[in-house]
Amino acid sequence: MTLQRRLAVAVAALLVTLVVAGGLVLLSQRRYVTRQLDAQVAALVARPQATLSLAERAAAGARGGVLSEVWIGTVAPTGAVTTVLAPASDPGLLPRVAPGEVLRVPVGRSTTAGDAPRVRVATGTLKGGTLLVVAVPTQRADAAMGRLALTLALAGAAVLLVVGAIVVWVRRLGLAPIREMTHAADAITAGERDRRIPDAPEGSEAAHLGDALNAMLDATHDSEDRMRQFVADASHELRTPLTTLRGYAELHAGRVEDPDTADALRRIRAEATRMHRLVEDLLTLTSLDRATLHLGPVDVRRMLDDVASDLQVAQPERRVTVETAPGVRLVADEERLTQAVMALGTNALRHTPVTAAVRLTAYAIGGEVVVEVSDDGPGIPPEELARVWDRFARVSQGRAGGGTGLGLAIVAGIVTAHGGRYAALSPPQGGVTFRLVLPAGSQAEGP
Ligand code: ADP
Repeated sequence: MTLQRRLAVAVAALLVTLVVAGGLVLLSQRRYVTRQLDAQVAALVARPQATLSLAERAAAGARGGVLSEVWIGTVAPTGAVTTVLAPASDPGLLPRVAPGEVLRVPVGRSTTAGDAPRVRVATGTLKGGTLLVVAVPTQRADAAMGRLALTLALAGAAVLLVVGAIVVWVRRLGLAPIREMTHAADAITAGERDRRIPDAPEGSEAAHLGDALNAMLDATHDSEDRMRQFVADASHELRTPLTTLRGYAELHAGRVEDPDTADALRRIRAEATRMHRLVEDLLTLTSLDRATLHLGPVDVRRMLDDVASDLQVAQPERRVTVETAPGVRLVADEERLTQAVMALGTNALRHTPVTAAVRLTAYAIGGEVVVEVSDDGPGIPPEELARVWDRFARVSQGRAGGGTGLGLAIVAGIVTAHGGRYAALSPPQGGVTFRLVLPAGSQAEGP
């Protein structure tokens, strides 16, 4: 689970906890207040006669503090309700009690007159079957509960506001920089070697991490450049002696009589030629970089037709076909791209029997152009398929036709420099498809 999602879950859990806790506080407070009112009502109905006399005295003028907000009355067996004492603040109050209804325990009831909508009410029995009714309005308690609910809601909102601010802060300091770092790292992996991790807020962990990663990238960049320069220099240095070696071998090949010496000179020349190719391939590999590409619009159909006719010239008896959708174009280094497709085509000629057909295919899909070179040859064993792109990779059949072992590594380098992807597919029934997926680029639309 991402940190962002965990944060969202934590905030949601906090929200639920706040609502549940607020609800529990309200419920328990309501129960407490109701019990207080009920205790007052119960105490008065417990001694009905004394309460009635107290009420009559209070009504006559000697109003006591305890009875100031209580309604006391009687219900005759006939059903006639008589108010003995009404609350000072609500003189017209009349609780809803049915004739003869006995309520030993206080209950909630609505009213038939007066301001208070609800009361807690109980009855006691007086002499002669008359009932003493005691009712206390819940209005004040309800208002207090309303205030408490509002206070809780405001406190909850304040807590959420603070938590929200903390979440925004954490996202800005930690999560947003991590997302940007991931994008930058993806771009670097995809070939943007000069891209660096963007600055994060000063003093944050993300800023330290970004600085450390940038320092590491710079160091890797430097050591890669040094290695590249070393290979390029070494290849340059090897070119001249190899040319000389080949020249001497060619010069003396026709002059020697002794067949063993002649054979030795022929082999020296062949090996020198192979080494020369190797040196050229090494030089190509060291120069493959996005910065060295000469980008321009490429008509993929035309490029594949050119490669196909070159392959056909090299092996006239081979069946080479081109299949492309019309108007497939992309922005790329045409020379390098042709070199890559040519290398794949040449591999097909070298590693498959001449009876195997070779197909060059291209199509555009979702802002990318897919170029495939496939053949009906023997294929590549699955366990060796991933390795074929490695430098000097040897698969089990060995190296046919004096290849340098750098052909596919150069193809991979060209595709990576273009910001593309590559894959080799070899189904069990045989044949290989080398697939290059390249970003179409901004000028790719239309012929
Ligand atoms: P090489 O110079 O040996 O051809 P590459 O890098 O071009 O080096 O290819 C690596 C290996 O992949 C080859 O040695 C070969 O075994 C295998 N390979 C390449 N293309 C094909 C193909 N079309 N069919 C079968 N095997 C292939």
